Amino acid sequence: MKYANSVVDLIGNTPLIKLNTVAADVAPTIFVKVEYFNPGGSVKDRIAARIVDAAEQSGQLLPGGTIVEPTSGNTGVGLALVAQQRGYKCIFVVPDKVGVDKRNVLEAYGAEVVVTPTAVAPDSPQSYYGVSDRLTREIPGAFKPDQFSNPNGPLSHYESTGPEIWSDTDQRVTHFVAGIGTGGTISGTGRYLKDISAGRASGPVRVIGADPEGSVYSGGTGRPYFVEGVGEDMWPEAYDPTVPDEVIAITDAESFELTRRLAREEGLLVGGSSGMAVAAALKAAKSLGSDDIMVVLLPDSGRGYLGKIFNDEWMKSYGFLSSGDETTAGEVLK
Ligand code: PMP
Repeated sequence: MKYANSVVDLIGNTPLIKLNTVAADVAPTIFVKVEYFNPGGSVKDRIAARIVDAAEQSGQLLPGGTIVEPTSGNTGVGLALVAQQRGYKCIFVVPDKVGVDKRNVLEAYGAEVVVTPTAVAPDSPQSYYGVSDRLTREIPGAFKPDQFSNPNGPLSHYESTGPEIWSDTDQRVTHFVAGIGTGGTISGTGRYLKDISAGRASGPVRVIGADPEGSVYSGGTGRPYFVEGVGEDMWPEAYDPTVPDEVIAITDAESFELTRRLAREEGLLVGGSSGMAVAAALKAAKSLGSDDIMVVLLPDSGRGYLGKIFNDEWMKSYGFLSSGDETTAGEVLK
């Protein structure tokens, strides 16, 4: 019989898929690593199991304990999956810019969700960091994984995402592209690929970060932007700034246009940070050749963004949609 003992056993080993029309105007081969194939629907499943295992081993998480984490949703789903299996309670703190669909998913997994305002300073007691710190102090037996500083986040990518890419490309990957949120994905995966390719005749893998315009990683101050899960207004410990060889700033409009194209042209219904990463890859690809093989990590599914990126009215209300790009045919379909 072929079966998994639990969904947790299905985390990782996500596929690489070649981009076709979206990459038609550039020379390199571009593969996307589609993380919505993880059981919780995002790349964040990978860090959850390792973080919980480590907390149990160190005694930070005891039977019946509560996991409290500031998360834009995806880390919460991953943690909720693992917590369910082991009898922990979960409380997730999310900024109000995070879509209601994402919050509903967390509640469906049995977690409690606390919503905080986006437009406050990161050191404010009302920020999602501030609120999660307070809850962790006040709740007996609470453990805060802190994906922004927990070394098990990048480590899970060093041990799984990186080796999968190296093996699936037959050791031929030349460029790795990923968005930067906590920085765990790019730091862990990028570090592995650089280490393993260091002595290669064709040279080491180049690592390219994708960042929302305005975020600190590409030289901004943290001005608000709409793309979710990426960009920062501070420098987390999970991010190793020596890993990326370059970081490319991408506007919300560019991210959302590519996100919609991936759904329409490649059959990949992915989130806005995926469109952002592909936009950065296409920019970098302009100066590369046909021997180059790029791998772009797509963190999550587009299901959590149907009311935003895939909603023409929402897109128009923020000026992101140029006329002619509407999803619905309107009159014709009546
Ligand atoms: N995209 C989405 C949708 C995310 O939720 C996250 C995690 N915050 C990222 C990208 C970035 O991943 P990382 O935190 O590993 O940098």
